[in-house]
This record gives sequence, structure tokens and C-alpha cells, in this order.
Amino acid sequence: MIAIVDRGECIGCRLCEEICPDVFVLDSEGISTVIVDELPFEFEECAHEAEERCPSSAITLE
Ligand code: SF4
Repeated sequence: MIAIVDRGECIGCRLCEEICPDVFVLDSEGISTVIVDELPFEFEECAHEAEERCPSSAITLE
């Protein structure tokens, strides 16, 4: 599984970084970026939570 952030949709609320800091980190522009390529199994649960709770639906998991 991989995580993708739509930079055009992200509003920089930081929620994904708080929920799943091993996967999502806000960059210098205040936009969430994905810091791992293939998500390790142990990160999948928090990545799903971040996807579900992102207020702008900017996160996609594939
Ligand atoms: S939760 Fe969504 S809007 Fe908030 S920082 Fe993460 S990707 Fe951006």
C-alpha cells in the first residue's frame, strides 16, 4: 500500500502528522508529504485513520 497526498487539496491542518507521524510530515510549505514509499504493515492502520479524518479528503491510499 502507498499513501498519496493531493497537495492542491491539503490545507495544512497537521492532523495526519499527529495521527500517523511515521508516514505524514508537513513540509516547509506547511503541506503534508508522505515520507515512506511502501507502507509497512504496522503503519497501515494509522494511515487509514488519517485518510478517513483528513478534513479536505487530500489523502488517498492505494
Ligand atoms: S489531514 Fe489532510 S488537510 Fe490536514 S495536513 Fe494532513 S493531508 Fe493536509
